[in-house]
Amino acid sequence: MESMKFLADAMLGKLAEWLRILGYDTVSASDLSILDDDYLLDIAEGEDRVLLTKDRELFQRAQKEDIQAVLVEGNSVEEQLAYLVKNKVIELRDVPSLDRCPRCNGPLVKVSKGEVKGLVPVSVYMSHDEFWMCTNCGQVYWKGSHWKKMKEFVERVKSLI
Ligand SMILES: [Zn+2]
Repeated sequence: MESMKFLADAMLGKLAEWLRILGYDTVSASDLSILDDDYLLDIAEGEDRVLLTKDRELFQRAQKEDIQAVLVEGNSVEEQLAYLVKNKVIELRDVPSLDRCPRCNGPLVKVSKGEVKGLVPVSVYMSHDEFWMCTNCGQVYWKGSHWKKMKEFVERVKSLI
C-alpha cells in the first residue's frame, strides 16, 4: 500500500503521535501556530495530506473542495486507530517503526552509541546499544520499557478490529 501522509486536527493530537509511531508522516494541527479551518484545508491540499478530523462541518467542507478527508470515529486512540484500519486508511505495522519522531514528525536516523553519550541518562547509556535520533528536534530514542507498552497498545487496537 502506498504510504499516505496525514494532517490531524487539533482534537486528534494523540492519534497523530500514534500515526508517527506507526511510521506515517503526520502533521498535527496542535503543532501549528494558526488554528483555522481554511489554513488546515490549505495545508491538506498543498502538501497532499489526508485530513483526519472529528469535526463534521470541516469534513464536509473538505469534501466539497475535493480534499481527501476522513471523519474519524472513536473516542479513545485505540478506537480511532481501529477505525482507520477497518476503513483501510492505514495498516498496523510493527511498532515503533522508528521512521518518524512521535514528538515532532521529524525523520529519525539510527545513531552510534558514541553520539548519544551525555544526551541520555547514564543508566540508559550503559544498558542499551541501539539509539535513534530525530533529525529535526534532536530527541533520542531507545528500546526502553515504553517499547513493550507500545506493542501491548497495538495488540489492544487489533482486538478492536
Ligand atoms: Zn523530533
